[in-house]
Amino acid sequence: MTPAAFAFSRTARWEELPALLAEPGAIPVAGAQSLMPMMALRVAEPARLVALDALPGYRDVRQSPGLLHLGAGVTHATAEDGVGPEPLRGWLARVAGGIAYRPVRNRGTIGGSLALHDPAADWPVALLALRAVAVLRHGTAERRLPLQEFLVGPFTTALAPGEVLAAIEVPRPPEDARFGWCKLAPSAGAFAEASAAMLQIPGAPPRVAVSSPEGARLMPDAPLPDDPHLARLREVALRRATA
Ligand SMILES: Cc1cc2nc3c(=O)[nH]c(=O)nc-3n(C[C@H](O)[C@H](O)[C@H](O)COP(=O)(O)OP(=O)(O)OC[C@H]3O[C@@H](n4cnc5c(N)ncnc54)[C@H](O)[C@@H]3O)c2cc1C
Repeated sequence: MTPAAFAFSRTARWEELPALLAEPGAIPVAGAQSLMPMMALRVAEPARLVALDALPGYRDVRQSPGLLHLGAGVTHATAEDGVGPEPLRGWLARVAGGIAYRPVRNRGTIGGSLALHDPAADWPVALLALRAVAVLRHGTAERRLPLQEFLVGPFTTALAPGEVLAAIEVPRPPEDARFGWCKLAPSAGAFAEASAAMLQIPGAPPRVAVSSPEGARLMPDAPLPDDPHLARLREVALRRATA
């Protein structure tokens, strides 16, 4: 199918973005790997796409002593290939490598995945376990929200009108921390039927996140799927991620 006609803009100035997004029907576009299929099916019919890829810092990967900073435009492929001597010891690469197939990973972004918050997506669950913080930007004004507050519900986030996800910050875990990740999908690279992630920092309770009908959620508050098959798959994913 063919998408409905739409206008297109790109800006390299953060301060121009809110006005572009204020136009009725205007939405941001990142890798377009979710948006284009939705537009082709006419599930989404935006009047204007506003490309984020020229914004300063959008694809930056930076490390400070306590944090890994990932621009929202960092692609799954970049994470798969390793973001330098990162403090997460290849954990991001493990998650990224299980998303779709390489052409999708070349274009799809971590920020796009979080901003969409498909309940079957991988990054929301994995980054929730890793204590990530969402950096939201409206023009030049920034605010930070822990991911559990950013991910409001399925396909719903705390983004305000005109605001975009600019970056994700992941606190550096101690050297003896462990990370578990399990995605159960009908075939390699397909969307998860169930997924679970666990961060274990010695001396602290394990931090466990799962996919749920309400999107990525921390245990023990995550609602159980109604479907007994999915509930069973979640049990298995949890067991494997926390083993
Ligand atoms: C065949 C196929 C298989 C896939 N398999 C998986 C899978 O196994 N696991 C998985 O997790 N995902 C999977 N995906 C989804 C893929 O990871 C997407 O890349 C991702 O969900 C969206 O990222 P994007 O950069 O393409 O966002 P886009 O498609 O450009 O945008 C998605 C939505 O987020 C909004 N948006 C994007 N960036 C921002 C931002 N920075 N701030 C605010 N809003 C923003 C857009 O307006 C849009 O509504 C698959 C996709 C395809 C096509």
